Amino acid sequence: MAAQIMDGKILAAQIKTQVKTRVGELRAQGIHPCLAVVLVGENPASAVYVRGKQADCAECDIESRLIHLPAEVSEEKLLTVVETLAADQNVHGLLVQLPLPAGIDDQKIIAAIPPEKDVDGFTPVNAGRLLIGEECFLPCTPAGVIAMLKSTGVPLAGKRAVVLGRSNIVGKPAALLLMQENCTVTVCHSKTQDLAAVCAEADILVAAIGRARFVTADMVKPGALVVDVGINRGADGRLCGDVDFAPCAEKAAWISPVPGGVGLMTRAMLLVNTLRAAAQQSGLEA
Ligand code: NDP
Repeated sequence: MAAQIMDGKILAAQIKTQVKTRVGELRAQGIHPCLAVVLVGENPASAVYVRGKQADCAECDIESRLIHLPAEVSEEKLLTVVETLAADQNVHGLLVQLPLPAGIDDQKIIAAIPPEKDVDGFTPVNAGRLLIGEECFLPCTPAGVIAMLKSTGVPLAGKRAVVLGRSNIVGKPAALLLMQENCTVTVCHSKTQDLAAVCAEADILVAAIGRARFVTADMVKPGALVVDVGINRGADGRLCGDVDFAPCAEKAAWISPVPGGVGLMTRAMLLVNTLRAAAQQSGLEA
């Protein structure tokens, strides 16, 4: 294997150590960073993600609150819960675990989160700030992608970057952040023609489409940086990314694995955002 590994485990551990240190400083000043997570229903994947978030908080001495509501909760009741947490001065970060059950308008609920507590970076205000290059809470997964790329030490400016996927939570913000890093960015999606050829020109390839091992070695430019955001179950039932790891690693200069890659960075970035929310709401530097 030629490529070096962008190791989410090592990078996330470094970030968590820094967060924990700063949390300790805040706690010494009487500020107890706190993340509130609203979980609706019994989606097993969501339950796993939420448990992970709680464990991460505990590891960094960040308080966490879980508000678990039944799947049949009304939109009105959910809004009231979010508004109550929004007004609670002891809650610094607030997120609603997606997806929400059918019949509840995600966007309406997300919009009720105050931008200063929006540690997922999903509210229209933070998304808009990102678009125009203002300071904001960055969505955790794209922020993790950029942190991984920077960790390689390879200069990003001027590079040709291709993002596979255009979702609001991964693809679009990843493309904006790469643009902020002065990359020349192309965004591909399900209607893109000659997708393999577009990918093969990428110095930086970010795959976020949710298709197991979709990116094959012929789509990777020799020496490219390949970041795999996807989380899928392969035909063999094992967890895998959107990138066919072993053959692509033969061509790339750097590649991120799944598991052990972007997922861990996403979790770490939520802690960074929560710490920052607590500091800012207390009038301090993060
Ligand atoms: P979405 O389903 O919201 O978006 C998928 C995107 O991929 C869409 O833009 C879609 O195009 C595009 N797409 C789908 N199939 C193809 C195809 N065959 N060719 C080209 N483009 C395609 O997914 P998310 O952005 O939410 O997530 C993407 C992946 O990342 C998933 O595997 C998800 O589990 C994972 N993920 C991982 C996280 C982590 O922490 N590691 C966090 C969040 C997500 P179109 O717009 O045309 O439909």
